[in-house]
Amino acid sequence: MSDKVLDVKNLTVRFETDRGTVYAVNGVDISLEAGETLGLVGETGAGKTTTALALLRLLDKSTARVESEAMLYCGEEMSEMSEDQMRKIRGRDMTMIFQDPMTALNPVIRIIDQISEIFRAHHNMSRHDAEEEALKTLEMVRIPRERAYEYPHQFSGGMKQRVIIAMALACSPKLLISDEPTTALDVTIQAQVLKLIKELQTNLNTSMIMITHDFGIVAETCDKVAVMYAGEIIESGSLESIFNNASHPYTVGLFHAVPSLTSNKEFLYQIDGLMPDPMIVHEGCSFADRCKYAKEACFNKRPENTCLNGKEHLVKCHIYSKDIPYVDVRKEVENA
Ligand code: SF4
Repeated sequence: MSDKVLDVKNLTVRFETDRGTVYAVNGVDISLEAGETLGLVGETGAGKTTTALALLRLLDKSTARVESEAMLYCGEEMSEMSEDQMRKIRGRDMTMIFQDPMTALNPVIRIIDQISEIFRAHHNMSRHDAEEEALKTLEMVRIPRERAYEYPHQFSGGMKQRVIIAMALACSPKLLISDEPTTALDVTIQAQVLKLIKELQTNLNTSMIMITHDFGIVAETCDKVAVMYAGEIIESGSLESIFNNASHPYTVGLFHAVPSLTSNKEFLYQIDGLMPDPMIVHEGCSFADRCKYAKEACFNKRPENTCLNGKEHLVKCHIYSKDIPYVDVRKEVENA
């Protein structure tokens, strides 16, 4: 059996709509060892959440076409699993924390019943035993036992998200996908919730995919980073490598678009333009229309991964495959 919890190669997701085909995810590779955390970073519409839903096989089959060379979970091919097998795995071995805690809980069911249902469904426990496990799980996320008998509307946003975390980690999953878990929360409790997720994940040795647009969250929680743009991973590597040696013009632009306490620049760097229409298939680089360094080859030839620094730092850009003249992108953006 493979040591990897997740090994995905060339994942694509297409949606068939009345207007035509939407190319949502275009050849994504993801590999995760036990206990490792990958930060999946990118702006809205980059394909991050669609990738996560495809991994959990939660996309509607009537509109979504999911294909891959491999989609291995602990060495087993997920695309060959029956719906019944997937249902057993989801919620027990692979779980997801969604963005909005306000809508993720059932408003008319008490908190204890929502959590104990997980133990009943996945471990076939009696009602009494499942409730006892649910109370222990709530304590794990620092919610007192006596609050377990209340309804979601009696909880604050931060507490609701802690309940969602408790539900996601109830069965000690091997893989947790956190989709912007703090976006809907007040800034004051975002740090607490992130700290809690990280602490529990480390204790349980759970692998995690942290979906976010925030490099601060990535720095706090991740071991490695994959930057997504227009359904593709355009740069990936270890946390250290991406933070110290970001190389793709889009990644470098993202880093410089974040306010810094040490910079004396009056204005933040701006990446002009918008993400391309996902219904259009590009012959060349999907970032070419927005890239200041684009040359003719960028519009005609699709960049493949180039390995940088002899490490596992991959970048899809013609500057590094030497198809166009070299530009020191970091220096250029720094001086812009
Ligand atoms: Fe820019 Fe060309 Fe690199 Fe794409 S391949 S990011 S257009 S320089």
